[in-house]
Amino acid sequence: MLIPQFNGVKAIYFDLDDTLCTYWDAAKAGLRKAFEDHPEHGSTPEAMLSEWAIAFSSFVETIGKTHWYEKYCASGEITRVELMRRMLERLNIFDEELAFRLSHTYHVERQAALELFPEALEVIQKLAKEYPLGLITNGPADIQQQEIQKLNIREYFPHIFIEGEHKIGKPDERIFRMAEQAVGLPPEEILFVGNSYKHDIVPAIEYGWKTAWIRRPSDVPPSSRTGKPEERGEDSVAPDVTISDLRELLS
Ligand SMILES: [Mg+2]
Repeated sequence: MLIPQFNGVKAIYFDLDDTLCTYWDAAKAGLRKAFEDHPEHGSTPEAMLSEWAIAFSSFVETIGKTHWYEKYCASGEITRVELMRRMLERLNIFDEELAFRLSHTYHVERQAALELFPEALEVIQKLAKEYPLGLITNGPADIQQQEIQKLNIREYFPHIFIEGEHKIGKPDERIFRMAEQAVGLPPEEILFVGNSYKHDIVPAIEYGWKTAWIRRPSDVPPSSRTGKPEERGEDSVAPDVTISDLRELLS
Protein backbone atom coordinates (compact mmCIF):
# COMPACT_ATOMS: atom_id res chain seq x y z
CA MET A 1 0.00 0.00 0.00
CA LEU A 2 1.21 3.47 -0.87
CA ILE A 3 1.49 6.28 1.71
CA PRO A 4 -1.71 8.39 2.23
CA GLN A 5 -0.43 11.21 -0.02
CA PHE A 6 -1.06 8.83 -2.88
CA ASN A 7 -4.61 7.79 -2.03
CA GLY A 8 -6.45 7.52 -5.33
CA VAL A 9 -3.36 6.37 -7.27
CA LYS A 10 -4.19 3.27 -9.31
CA ALA A 11 -1.01 2.74 -11.36
CA ILE A 12 2.67 3.51 -10.89
CA TYR A 13 5.38 4.27 -13.44
CA PHE A 14 9.05 4.33 -12.57
CA ASP A 15 12.07 5.79 -14.24
CA LEU A 16 14.87 3.19 -14.48
CA ASP A 17 18.39 4.67 -14.34
CA ASP A 18 19.31 6.05 -10.90
CA THR A 19 15.74 5.53 -9.70
CA LEU A 20 15.75 1.72 -9.58
CA CYS A 21 19.35 0.97 -10.57
CA THR A 22 22.83 2.35 -10.05
CA TYR A 23 23.43 3.77 -13.52
CA TRP A 24 25.88 6.60 -12.84
CA ASP A 25 27.95 4.52 -10.42
CA ALA A 26 28.10 1.74 -13.00
CA ALA A 27 29.01 4.22 -15.76
CA LYS A 28 31.83 5.68 -13.66
CA ALA A 29 33.18 2.20 -12.88
CA GLY A 30 33.00 1.30 -16.58
CA LEU A 31 34.78 4.45 -17.72
CA ARG A 32 37.51 4.05 -15.10
CA LYS A 33 38.16 0.46 -16.16
CA ALA A 34 38.19 1.38 -19.86
CA PHE A 35 40.66 4.22 -19.38
CA GLU A 36 42.91 2.20 -17.06
CA ASP A 37 42.94 -0.77 -19.42
CA HIS A 38 44.00 1.25 -22.46
CA PRO A 39 46.94 3.44 -21.50
CA GLU A 40 48.06 3.74 -25.14
CA HIS A 41 49.41 7.08 -26.33
CA GLY A 42 50.48 8.03 -22.81
CA SER A 43 47.28 9.72 -21.70
CA THR A 44 46.22 9.31 -18.06
CA PRO A 45 42.81 7.91 -17.06
CA GLU A 46 42.06 11.24 -15.31
CA ALA A 47 42.76 13.26 -18.46
CA MET A 48 40.62 10.88 -20.52
CA LEU A 49 37.76 11.07 -18.04
CA SER A 50 37.76 14.83 -17.93
CA GLU A 51 37.86 15.11 -21.75
CA TRP A 52 35.16 12.45 -22.03
CA ALA A 53 32.96 14.48 -19.67
CA ILE A 54 33.35 17.59 -21.84
CA ALA A 55 32.60 15.64 -25.02
CA PHE A 56 29.59 14.00 -23.32
CA SER A 57 28.08 17.28 -22.12
CA SER A 58 28.21 18.96 -25.50
CA PHE A 59 27.01 15.81 -27.28
CA VAL A 60 23.88 15.33 -25.13
CA GLU A 61 22.97 19.00 -25.43
CA THR A 62 22.57 18.80 -29.18
CA ILE A 63 21.88 15.13 -29.90
CA GLY A 64 18.10 15.53 -30.24
CA LYS A 65 18.56 18.05 -33.03
CA THR A 66 21.12 16.14 -35.11
CA HIS A 67 21.34 13.02 -37.26
CA TRP A 68 22.85 11.27 -34.24
CA TYR A 69 19.44 10.97 -32.58
CA GLU A 70 18.13 8.33 -34.97
CA LYS A 71 21.30 6.26 -34.48
CA TYR A 72 21.24 6.75 -30.71
CA CYS A 73 17.64 5.51 -30.49
CA ALA A 74 18.47 2.24 -32.21
CA SER A 75 21.77 1.37 -30.60
CA GLY A 76 24.01 2.62 -27.83
CA GLU A 77 27.16 1.54 -29.60
CA ILE A 78 27.44 4.07 -32.41
CA THR A 79 27.20 7.12 -30.19
CA ARG A 80 29.32 5.49 -27.46
CA VAL A 81 32.16 4.99 -29.97
CA GLU A 82 31.67 8.50 -31.32
CA LEU A 83 32.04 9.96 -27.82
CA MET A 84 35.29 8.04 -27.28
CA ARG A 85 36.52 9.26 -30.67
CA ARG A 86 35.76 12.86 -29.71
CA MET A 87 37.44 12.41 -26.32
CA LEU A 88 40.61 11.08 -28.01
CA GLU A 89 40.51 13.86 -30.59
CA ARG A 90 40.49 16.41 -27.76
CA LEU A 91 43.74 14.77 -26.60
CA ASN A 92 45.15 14.92 -30.12
CA ILE A 93 44.86 11.18 -30.51
CA PHE A 94 43.41 10.05 -33.82
CA ASP A 95 42.80 6.33 -33.47
CA GLU A 96 39.42 4.91 -34.52
CA GLU A 97 40.33 1.44 -33.40
CA LEU A 98 41.20 2.62 -29.89
CA ALA A 99 37.87 4.48 -29.72
CA PHE A 100 36.14 1.23 -30.53
CA ARG A 101 38.05 -0.74 -27.89
CA LEU A 102 37.46 1.89 -25.20
CA SER A 103 33.77 1.91 -26.00
CA HIS A 104 33.60 -1.87 -25.80
CA THR A 105 35.30 -2.08 -22.40
CA TYR A 106 33.16 0.76 -21.09
CA HIS A 107 29.99 -0.99 -22.19
CA VAL A 108 30.91 -4.43 -20.83
CA GLU A 109 32.11 -3.09 -17.47
CA ARG A 110 29.19 -0.71 -17.04
CA GLN A 111 26.74 -3.50 -17.73
CA ALA A 112 28.54 -5.77 -15.25
CA ALA A 113 28.46 -3.12 -12.51
CA LEU A 114 24.79 -2.20 -12.99
CA GLU A 115 22.57 -3.34 -10.13
CA LEU A 116 19.28 -2.55 -8.44
CA PHE A 117 19.45 -0.32 -5.39
CA PRO A 118 19.30 -2.53 -2.28
CA GLU A 119 15.66 -1.79 -1.47
CA ALA A 120 14.32 -1.68 -5.03
CA LEU A 121 13.32 -5.30 -5.58
CA GLU A 122 11.42 -5.58 -2.32
CA VAL A 123 9.44 -2.40 -3.08
CA ILE A 124 8.71 -3.39 -6.69
CA GLN A 125 7.53 -6.83 -5.60
CA LYS A 126 5.19 -5.40 -2.98
CA LEU A 127 3.72 -2.75 -5.28
CA ALA A 128 3.35 -5.14 -8.22
CA LYS A 129 0.86 -7.17 -6.17
CA GLU A 130 -1.46 -4.16 -5.80
CA TYR A 131 -0.89 -1.87 -8.79
CA PRO A 132 -0.12 -2.16 -12.48
CA LEU A 133 3.51 -1.01 -12.81
CA GLY A 134 5.39 0.47 -15.71
CA LEU A 135 8.71 1.96 -16.76
CA ILE A 136 9.31 5.14 -18.74
CA THR A 137 13.00 5.23 -19.48
CA ASN A 138 15.14 7.32 -21.80
CA GLY A 139 18.02 5.84 -23.75
CA PRO A 140 18.81 3.59 -26.72
CA ALA A 141 16.40 0.70 -27.30
CA ASP A 142 19.03 -2.04 -27.08
CA ILE A 143 20.75 -0.67 -23.97
CA GLN A 144 17.54 -0.20 -22.02
CA GLN A 145 16.36 -3.70 -22.96
CA GLN A 146 19.71 -5.13 -21.84
CA GLU A 147 19.44 -3.31 -18.53
CA ILE A 148 15.94 -4.65 -17.85
CA GLN A 149 17.23 -8.12 -18.73
CA LYS A 150 20.32 -7.85 -16.53
CA LEU A 151 18.30 -6.54 -13.57
CA ASN A 152 15.76 -9.32 -14.08
CA ILE A 153 12.72 -7.10 -13.43
CA ARG A 154 10.72 -7.47 -16.63
CA GLU A 155 8.01 -9.62 -15.04
CA TYR A 156 6.99 -6.77 -12.69
CA PHE A 157 6.46 -4.20 -15.43
CA PRO A 158 3.70 -4.98 -17.93
CA HIS A 159 4.01 -1.45 -19.39
CA ILE A 160 7.43 -0.47 -20.65
CA PHE A 161 8.12 2.71 -22.64
CA ILE A 162 11.65 3.14 -23.94
CA GLU A 163 12.72 6.34 -25.68
CA GLY A 164 14.71 4.47 -28.31
CA GLU A 165 11.74 2.31 -29.31
CA HIS A 166 9.30 5.20 -29.77
CA LYS A 167 11.85 7.87 -30.73
CA ILE A 168 10.12 9.98 -28.08
CA GLY A 169 11.68 10.53 -24.68
CA LYS A 170 10.88 12.33 -21.45
CA PRO A 171 10.04 15.20 -20.99
CA ASP A 172 7.96 14.94 -24.22
CA GLU A 173 4.25 14.92 -23.36
CA ARG A 174 3.45 12.20 -25.88
CA ILE A 175 5.29 9.48 -23.97
CA PHE A 176 3.36 10.28 -20.78
CA ARG A 177 0.05 10.23 -22.68
CA MET A 178 0.94 6.87 -24.23
CA ALA A 179 1.67 5.55 -20.76
CA GLU A 180 -1.73 6.80 -19.52
CA GLN A 181 -3.49 5.04 -22.38
CA ALA A 182 -1.67 1.81 -21.64
CA VAL A 183 -3.13 1.64 -18.13
CA GLY A 184 -6.44 3.26 -19.13
CA LEU A 185 -6.36 5.81 -16.31
CA PRO A 186 -6.54 9.59 -16.05
CA PRO A 187 -3.28 11.37 -15.11
CA GLU A 188 -4.32 12.16 -11.54
CA GLU A 189 -4.59 8.43 -10.80
CA ILE A 190 -1.02 7.71 -11.91
CA LEU A 191 2.15 8.15 -9.87
CA PHE A 192 5.55 8.75 -11.42
CA VAL A 193 8.68 7.97 -9.44
CA GLY A 194 11.90 9.39 -10.85
CA ASN A 195 15.30 10.84 -10.00
CA SER A 196 15.52 13.58 -12.61
CA TYR A 197 13.73 16.77 -11.60
CA LYS A 198 13.90 18.11 -15.16
CA HIS A 199 13.02 15.01 -17.17
CA ASP A 200 10.80 13.06 -14.76
CA ILE A 201 9.22 15.31 -12.17
CA VAL A 202 8.54 18.62 -13.96
CA PRO A 203 6.79 17.02 -16.96
CA ALA A 204 4.82 14.56 -14.81
CA ILE A 205 3.50 17.44 -12.67
CA GLU A 206 2.71 19.49 -15.77
CA TYR A 207 0.70 16.64 -17.31
CA GLY A 208 -1.30 16.12 -14.13
CA TRP A 209 0.38 13.07 -12.60
CA LYS A 210 1.25 12.49 -8.96
CA THR A 211 5.00 12.58 -8.36
CA ALA A 212 7.68 11.20 -6.07
CA TRP A 213 11.17 12.62 -6.55
CA ILE A 214 13.89 10.26 -5.41
CA ARG A 215 17.20 11.88 -4.57
CA ARG A 216 20.20 9.67 -3.92
CA PRO A 217 23.77 10.70 -3.08
CA SER A 218 25.06 8.48 -5.93
CA ASP A 219 23.04 10.40 -8.53
CA VAL A 220 25.97 12.37 -9.93
CA PRO A 221 26.97 12.05 -13.60
CA PRO A 222 30.68 11.70 -14.47
CA SER A 223 30.32 15.05 -16.28
CA SER A 224 29.00 16.83 -13.17
CA ARG A 225 30.77 20.07 -12.28
CA THR A 226 29.30 20.32 -8.79
CA GLY A 227 29.78 16.68 -7.74
CA LYS A 228 26.32 16.87 -6.18
CA PRO A 229 22.87 15.54 -7.14
CA GLU A 230 20.50 17.80 -9.10
CA GLU A 231 18.83 20.64 -7.17
CA ARG A 232 15.60 22.42 -7.95
CA GLY A 233 15.10 26.18 -7.73
CA GLU A 234 13.17 27.69 -4.83
CA ASP A 235 10.31 28.92 -7.00
CA SER A 236 10.04 25.72 -9.00
CA VAL A 237 7.08 23.34 -8.81
CA ALA A 238 7.27 20.85 -5.95
CA PRO A 239 6.75 17.09 -6.23
CA ASP A 240 4.13 15.52 -3.93
CA VAL A 241 6.93 13.87 -1.99
CA THR A 242 10.72 13.86 -2.03
CA ILE A 243 12.34 10.63 -0.85
CA SER A 244 15.80 9.11 -0.56
CA ASP A 245 14.77 5.45 -0.37
CA LEU A 246 11.97 3.73 -2.31
CA ARG A 247 10.58 2.20 0.91
CA GLU A 248 9.33 5.68 1.82
CA LEU A 249 6.60 5.15 -0.79
CA LEU A 250 5.08 2.35 1.29
CA SER A 251 2.78 2.94 4.21
MG1 LIG B 1 16.90 8.39 -14.20
